[in-house]
Amino acid sequence: MFKNILLAFDGSAHAQKAAHLAADLARQYGATLCVVHTYDPVPDYLGEPFLQEVISKRTEAADKVMAQALALVGKLPRLETEILEGPPAEAILRVAEVRGVDLIVMGTRGLGQLSGLLLGSQSQKVLTHARCPVLLVR
Ligand code: ATP
Ligand code: MG
Repeated sequence: MFKNILLAFDGSAHAQKAAHLAADLARQYGATLCVVHTYDPVPDYLGEPFLQEVISKRTEAADKVMAQALALVGKLPRLETEILEGPPAEAILRVAEVRGVDLIVMGTRGLGQLSGLLLGSQSQKVLTHARCPVLLVR
């Protein structure tokens, strides 16, 4: 049923659970799994050399988060990754459109500090605007 699954990963406990589930579904359906991680934009008022330094730090941190996701996902015949700059929900929705994703898997919450929240702002946005099923993992 699912051919193209997107996993949104921020390294949080919920996203880790989502990673296991997304990998499991990709295996069962023989689907392609695309793991998406976004990092915060670097303000361009930072002049050189600080700008380059901050960009390098952010991309290195993003690479580490992606490596964690891939370790949780394990081996899959069709596995792809996207590391993007910018707000997570927009990036997730854009990748989903461009790649013709038929299932988005993400955590109910992420790394945000408000533990009382039922649903994080990014999951809420994706759930509201996605054109495919969204599986929220808790
Ligand atoms: P908020 O960010 O609204 O303060 P939160 O961090 O608890 O609250 P979300 O950010 O909505 O909640 O996180 C929910 C899910 O969204 C995460 O489990 C993850 O699947 C996905 N997500 C969040 N941030 C990112 C990101 N930077 N890259 C990829 N996926 C993300
Ligand atoms: Mg968050």
